[in-house]
Amino acid sequence: MVDRCADERAKTRARTPAKTPAKTRAERLARFQPASGMVTPRFSGLASFMRLPVLDPAEAADQVEIGLIGIPFDGATTGRPGARLGPRAVREASTGTRALNHATGVAPYVLAPCADLGDVPVNPVDTAETARRIEAFYRPLAEAGIVPLTVGGDHFITGPVLRALGAARPLGLIHIDAHSDTDDAQYGGSRLTHGTPFRRAVEAGVLDPRRCIQIGLRGSMDAADERDWALAQGMRILTMEEVCARGLPEVAAEARAVAGEGPTYLSFDIDALDPAFAPGTGTPEIGGFTTREALHLLRGLRGLDLVGADVVEVAPSLDPAGITALAGAGIAFEILCLLAERAAARA
Ligand code: MN
Ligand code: MN
Repeated sequence: MVDRCADERAKTRARTPAKTPAKTRAERLARFQPASGMVTPRFSGLASFMRLPVLDPAEAADQVEIGLIGIPFDGATTGRPGARLGPRAVREASTGTRALNHATGVAPYVLAPCADLGDVPVNPVDTAETARRIEAFYRPLAEAGIVPLTVGGDHFITGPVLRALGAARPLGLIHIDAHSDTDDAQYGGSRLTHGTPFRRAVEAGVLDPRRCIQIGLRGSMDAADERDWALAQGMRILTMEEVCARGLPEVAAEARAVAGEGPTYLSFDIDALDPAFAPGTGTPEIGGFTTREALHLLRGLRGLDLVGADVVEVAPSLDPAGITALAGAGIAFEILCLLAERAAARA
């Protein structure tokens, strides 16, 4: 009689990164596979991102090409908190994502070795200290050429990630969001909030504003300054009204044209989606993308030189139905497919 449990234990051991580093790319690809839902049920086991092996970031160099990372921090949220719970909820929801993208045919784990590198050790009560810890976490990954796919956390976390990834040269940016997040300061002078990361990143010289595009902006603003400042730097803004008028293929084409050939970061704020699809977020705005439109938009971004990406502002405590984390996991998988194609092209 076949002992299926023993069989599965052997497979689990095979998936666990061994102490001896894999030598060839084929070996690494074989080692860093997600647990199959055809072998162990998707509701079982520890919930890592996409059911991938968990790897200590200190051991990631020369092993994986894409690292999925959580940043459970929402201490820079100005409105409704809860995004600190995002990474855990998205890990759980992501256990339902399978290995093959039905629309594009991309099989990310065949194209690139990927692992869950755990969470950045944030300090929930100290924003500046957390920024330092995020940058320190990402710098060695950037130096090792590992492309991070981050799940936040509020949008503040993108700033220190960009400081690490853009340290060698300024990056382009495709920023999908209901908001510009280019405020100067909030609450009488606080410059480190989830409404300011892209202004700080341009000031730090880690973003090239002329290669930045913001897509899906809408709703109301406290003042025109955030928009006017972004436009004055040369950033392109495509409001949701323009997106609707022009259609998704044109929007994707313009995003590709603005970002160009150079290294580019992709940042997806879940509040870009309509609250009907993502109610669990800090600053919901009506009139947003459907999840289907977001997938189509992302599929229009294939072939860019993406050096990192994130999905932020998933606040599961504001969404008892769990659809926001589900949307976050689906968006993260779609982005992972983009990153894996780029990794394979470079290998
Ligand atoms: Mn945002
Ligand atoms: Mn937003």
